Amino acid sequence: MHLARFPRVRLGHFPTPLEAMPNLTKLLGGPKVYIKRDDCTGLSSGGNKTRKLEFLMADALQKGCDTVITQGAIQSNHARQTAAAAAKLGMKCRILLENRTGSTSPDYCGSGNVLLDHIHGAPTQTFPAGTPMNAEMEKVAEEIRSHGGKPYIIVGGGSNPIGALGYVNCALELVAQANDMSLRIDHVVHATGSAGTQAGLVVGLEGLRSHIPVLGIGTRAPRPLQEENIYKLACATADLMDMPGAVARERVVANTDYVGAGYGVPTDGMVEAVNILARTEGILLDPVYSGKGMAGLIDLIRKGHFKTSENVVFLHTGGSVGLFGYNNIFDATRPN
Ligand SMILES: *Cc1c(COP(=O)(O)O)cnc(C)c1O
Repeated sequence: MHLARFPRVRLGHFPTPLEAMPNLTKLLGGPKVYIKRDDCTGLSSGGNKTRKLEFLMADALQKGCDTVITQGAIQSNHARQTAAAAAKLGMKCRILLENRTGSTSPDYCGSGNVLLDHIHGAPTQTFPAGTPMNAEMEKVAEEIRSHGGKPYIIVGGGSNPIGALGYVNCALELVAQANDMSLRIDHVVHATGSAGTQAGLVVGLEGLRSHIPVLGIGTRAPRPLQEENIYKLACATADLMDMPGAVARERVVANTDYVGAGYGVPTDGMVEAVNILARTEGILLDPVYSGKGMAGLIDLIRKGHFKTSENVVFLHTGGSVGLFGYNNIFDATRPN
């Protein structure tokens, strides 16, 4: 596993901190809970897409492209970090947003990540839920080519083998940090969506023979599909790194019990998790991913899923900017 073989541009602040959460640990009375702060990657308020973009944007530059095109949900953290990366590298950026939740709230449609897309100089186009977004990206690419530009399409969430290298890198970073701190990691838990984060982590942790299991908490797809997506991408990423077969199917585990009514749709558990982290550790989660991921972790701890002697690392994947797209939900739980 030698990542220097792949082109990479530096976009983030690494290593991100690995910290204890003593107040949350005490509140829940279960295992010791730690947090890996990938919400602190530094690029446009941070998040997990920064690591993927270091490899994706390097690939785009190496191919001589001048415009990146990507897509996501309206409150896409991936789109926002892509817009910021393009700005930093002097490239143009076109963003296609799918209204997966069907929300018409002005906050959801114009604040949070959407506001930042525009501040970073990226135009956005919005499409109704169910639009074939890859075909729409192709249309935009064709239009750019017809004007003499060189487009580079980044798949949703940056989740292809090149993007997943960013999370192979995170696995190396995490294990090195834990070794330095003499911290034995028994579990890594994080929110999973387009699968690149978990795929890269599993390839890295398995490649190191760390024996650290990863549990993805689903935010969209049902379990069989989510695990299949992660496993396929992990295999393709291992192939790219010339280590075919590095990941056994049973090392890919997702729990999709915390999705609720659908992608991006708030759940009571998410709201509780966001409030708990904000009020015990002073840490902001997000409504779509890390809030549901933490809701899953909290519930599993309450159900006794982990031993109290174990150490669990929650990978914070970022996204707190999205809170501003959901402020009516949180207003309803404000203290008085
Ligand atoms: C994209 C995203 C995820 C999910 O990561 P995937 O690699 O798409 O599975 C989790 N948390 C946040 C905040 C994200 O923006």
